[in-house]
Amino acid sequence: MTFTGNKALALSEPLIFEIGRREVTGVDIEDAGTFEDRLGGQARTTPIDLPGLSEPETMRHFVRLSRQNYAIDMGLYPLGSCTMKHNPRLNEKMARLPGFADIHPLQPLSTVPGALELMGELSRWLLTLTGMKAVALSPKAGAQGELAGMMAIRAALRARGENRGTVLVPESAHGTNPATAAALGYRVKAVKAREDGTVSVEAVREALDSDVAAIMLTNPNTCGLFEPEVAAIAAAIHEAGAYFYGDGANFNAIVGKTKPGELGVDAMHINLHKTFSTPHGGGGPGAGPVVLSERLAAYAPVPFLREDGTLVERTDQCEAEELPFGRLVAFHGQMGMYVRALSYMLAHGSDGLRQASEDAVLAANYIKAQLADVMTVSFPDRPSMHEVLFDDRFLKGSGVTTLDFAKAMIDEGYHPMTMYFPLVVPGAMLIEPTESESLASLDLFIATLRDLAKSAREGDTERFTEAPRYAPRRRLDETRGARKPILTYEAPSDFQEAAE
Ligand SMILES: *Cc1c(COP(=O)(O)O)cnc(C)c1O
Repeated sequence: MTFTGNKALALSEPLIFEIGRREVTGVDIEDAGTFEDRLGGQARTTPIDLPGLSEPETMRHFVRLSRQNYAIDMGLYPLGSCTMKHNPRLNEKMARLPGFADIHPLQPLSTVPGALELMGELSRWLLTLTGMKAVALSPKAGAQGELAGMMAIRAALRARGENRGTVLVPESAHGTNPATAAALGYRVKAVKAREDGTVSVEAVREALDSDVAAIMLTNPNTCGLFEPEVAAIAAAIHEAGAYFYGDGANFNAIVGKTKPGELGVDAMHINLHKTFSTPHGGGGPGAGPVVLSERLAAYAPVPFLREDGTLVERTDQCEAEELPFGRLVAFHGQMGMYVRALSYMLAHGSDGLRQASEDAVLAANYIKAQLADVMTVSFPDRPSMHEVLFDDRFLKGSGVTTLDFAKAMIDEGYHPMTMYFPLVVPGAMLIEPTESESLASLDLFIATLRDLAKSAREGDTERFTEAPRYAPRRRLDETRGARKPILTYEAPSDFQEAAE
């Protein structure tokens, strides 16, 4: 331990509440003077107690914290299902053009024709790539896209006079799928996966009855496998009068290779922050446009763009055949993300988008092939798509868990992969390298994991159970942090206790 607690130029940094002083300020604003407030006697009379810092202190505080953060611009970010790919700087430049960055959602439409045209162009690309009929751009994340898609499905069923109450969700699904269905009041019925990690049409048929409103299926699934019976599953679902919600979070693996619309999907969200490289993971905001098939197109929420480019902002502006289920967000969604996503698409072109998918799949299969002899590949007999799933069987008897293994990766300078998800295998480790990693970067990552796996096998348990040893903080009590989070700052003594 050093005298300062710093580790070379990695500076330790206290909480802002610990270094701030109420009497200090970085700005010099004149007293507001006397004025009549309009708060009906509710105005605060006690000090607000925000910590005060000078401008240089503020700067150092946040820069020091930012240097403790891990980012896609620093190194490989192998989080499976998250598609942490490079965010091209060109996208950022486009998004900062004043004509896109400085507009206001309440501006008269006649003053923003370029923004509308951009939304129209983005919509055309999304519809072409997915083979779908309509798109609601406004949802602000994948999870909200799911909600939009499922609300369109509910509206379509209600228009038929049906009030179905069950949604089928395979066991390997992302937690947002059952959560979305439950939030809308649906009963969630789990569909079992086969030994090989995929969903069979028989299992779906068995679960189907006249109460089923929809299935929510991720393809490629969260085990990184393309669902081989997806078209047959869609047919069975449609035959039963239900709808097929496709979770499109893994679209990065299949862009330009296959179209969800042609596989029978009725509604699918697209995480622009995954597939189309807009920033995410604390750097958000995200965007989760939802594409709809012919059968659901009429129910898209407002606002939406007609094919002729006119924007329909309210339900009372709709034609008879336009039956929006309502409105999901206040304005038009994340304009900045639309600009970045379209910039990415135009820069890549259709051939480039296809190549990105191919390279992402190649990178995942390379990792799988290079690690198969030292780690356990969960589904070795199927080719992986853009991500590869390992589980903890290779750690058996070593005293090292998936969590320990991930912590040791931090000491080696890597953000861990997605852990303990999906739930269909024990101690899951889901690795998604994306297409943006070079061969050299993949090779170093592979060599690191091989070295770790060897250490675990040879009984160097401390390398894992004591990790992270070189991070700003040692291992935290994550269970307690999740169960009993301390969300307000009280006094330094409480902080000490919480940190222990
Ligand atoms: C990321 C993800 C979601 C949710 O998307 P958000 O944009 O994080 O709300 C849903 N399903 C899967 C499979 C995902 O990977």
